[in-house]
Formats: sequence, structure tokens, C-alpha cells
Amino acid sequence: MATEACSTVTVNHINVFWDEGMLKHETGIGVFDTGDDPGFLDVLEKHPENSDRLRNMVSILKRGPISPFISWHPGSPALISHLLSFHTPEYINELVEADKGGGKMLCAGTFLNPGSWDAALLAAGTTLCAMKHVLDGHGKVAYALVRPPGHHAQPSQADGYCFLNNAGLAVQLALDSGVCNKVAVIDIDVHYGNGTAEGFYRSNKVLTISLHMNHGSWGPSHPHNGSIDELGEGEGYGYNLNIPLPNGTGDNGYVYAFNELVIPSIQKFGPDMIVLTIGLDSSAFDPNGRQCLTMEGYRKIGKIVHDLAKQHSDGRLVIVQEGGYHVTYSAYCLHAFLEGVLSLVSLPPLPDPIAYYPEDDTFSSKVIDAIKNYQKDKLHF
Ligand SMILES: [Zn+2]
Repeated sequence: MATEACSTVTVNHINVFWDEGMLKHETGIGVFDTGDDPGFLDVLEKHPENSDRLRNMVSILKRGPISPFISWHPGSPALISHLLSFHTPEYINELVEADKGGGKMLCAGTFLNPGSWDAALLAAGTTLCAMKHVLDGHGKVAYALVRPPGHHAQPSQADGYCFLNNAGLAVQLALDSGVCNKVAVIDIDVHYGNGTAEGFYRSNKVLTISLHMNHGSWGPSHPHNGSIDELGEGEGYGYNLNIPLPNGTGDNGYVYAFNELVIPSIQKFGPDMIVLTIGLDSSAFDPNGRQCLTMEGYRKIGKIVHDLAKQHSDGRLVIVQEGGYHVTYSAYCLHAFLEGVLSLVSLPPLPDPIAYYPEDDTFSSKVIDAIKNYQKDKLHF
């Protein structure tokens, strides 16, 4: 793979990788994400992981204030051989057979329907395209705008709307390319990035950091707790940093967690690539989370993460889309996050159309201090 750095690359634009074929993953309707209709309701909702959320993310990036700073790139489907860098052959075979059989519910809320497998291959391949763009030196910041999401997909298990671990595949590509010796993954989805963590649990080349709601295990497809004592194993011990945050943590609490835990960890680890998996379900209005970030919080996190990339990974930052289920606010928070990444002094921030949430970070600060106290002897890289 060609990897020479391109001196003419500017960092004041974001390369977005997108393919509308990912809209063809149909997740159906029912009582929230169950796919069931017991018959009590006149109006059934779409499954939260539906194509509307991505349609709005695409449109706000095409028509919102930052649109002049976005470069659009096509995606492409992953090959089966690509998938085996993260997933087991048995699991991939299970997915292929489920697709051939006309569809299957792989675990609670996670439906592989006709069209889903092609969309999943596109999501994985499009994320690999975004990573390759950065590895090849064509740009510093790339964003894979993909669905179905991936961070719950484990090497041999679908989970939480996820089939293939898009970010995990991209991390493995970065390592296999020879360009990167150490990759840091920062996951700000409201749920624990358990699949990515499991994939690199025994590796000291990948630091996985996840800030999430303290939701614990939700069943057999998600045996991990996301707790602070899940630290990695073997060579990977001390390279999985879980930051379970109390409900309602909010903008100030997240910034405090970054300042106290994430930034020092990245500084110690010294990655040559940062992968940021973004879930917009950490917002104040998401039906799947209670973390209460607003656009301003996402904007601040975008700036912090890009500053970290500039300081530690020569600006190399690959952003991968995960959850985010409020069809309006997810798109607005995405725009705000990318405003933070761009840090454009000439562009006024897009006003927040709906946020009003009283914040009290007293409790979350205490929790973050306690996590720091626990981790300080264990993160010895
Ligand atoms: Zn999530």
C-alpha cells in the first residue's frame, strides 16, 4: 500500500465516505426495536436503527454551514477475505447463510433482512475506504458515514444492531498496512463498544477507550459489562479503558472525563492513528440513552479529539459512525461534532434548535475521579 505523506494535504476539510446502498438495510417496525406488535398501539414506530437517521446526516452535511468543508467520496463493499481479519470464518458463514435463507433475527433487536447483508458489506468496505484514504496520505481526516453500525459486533457474534465491526476492520487494516504500529480507538457511543474491545482485548497495539452509559450486560449477545475492571488480558492488559458514566453526565462531565482520563491515556500510549467511533445516542434526546450531551458537548469533543490527533498521530483521524437514533438531533449533533473537528474561526456555530437541559456535573465528576483513582496503577503502557 502506498503510504507517502502528502505535504499539500489540508486539514481544514473532512473526507466523507458514503454509499446510498446502505439505506437498503430495512429494520422494520414494531414496539421500539423488538420487531413485535402485540396489538396495543395504533401507531408503531420504525426500528430506531432506520435509514431516516442516515438520510438526515447526509443532508445536513450537504446543506448545512460546514458543507463547503466536506469532500464526498464513494464507498465500496468489503470482500469476504477482508472480514476475516476481525471475524471468524464460522461467524461470517452464519451471516452468509442467514442472507441466503431470506433473513434472520441474530439476537434481540438485530434483524438481518433481505438487503441487509449487502448494506453491511458496504458499511464495512466504506469504512475500509476511509481508513485507506488516510493511510495512503490522501487526507488526514476521514469520516465513514455508515450503517448498519458495528461496534457491538464481536469476532463471532452479532449484537446490538451490529453485524460487522466496521471500526475493528479499519483498525486491523491500519496495523496490517505497516503504516501504524499503535492505534487508539475512542468510542463515544452511549453504549459500550464491546465488540471492538473484545477484538483487541489481548493486544497492546490497540488502546480501546469507551465512554458509555453504565448499562452492564444486556443478554447473551453482550456478555461484557463495560466496567472499569475489564482491562484486557495477556499483552493487552491495561489497554482497555472503560469509562462507565452516570446517567445525565452531560457536556461538562464528558469534557471532564476527556481531560482527566482520555487525554492522559492517549498521551501515554502515543498512537500513530486515532479512530473515533461516534454515537449520537449520547445526546440529550436520544431514545436509547440518558447521557444528555448537547450540540455544544459534541462540538467540544470534536475539537479535543482532533487536537489529540494533531499532537499525537500526525493529524490522522478516522471517524466511524455508530449509533444515534433521534432522527433530527443526531444529524445536528453530527454537524456540531464536525464543526469542532474543523475548528473554523470564520464559521459561527450552528445554533442548537432544541437543547435545554439543566446540567449538574457534581456526581459525574466524583465518578470520574473514582475511575481515575482505580485506573492510575493499571494503565501502565
Ligand atoms: Zn449506541
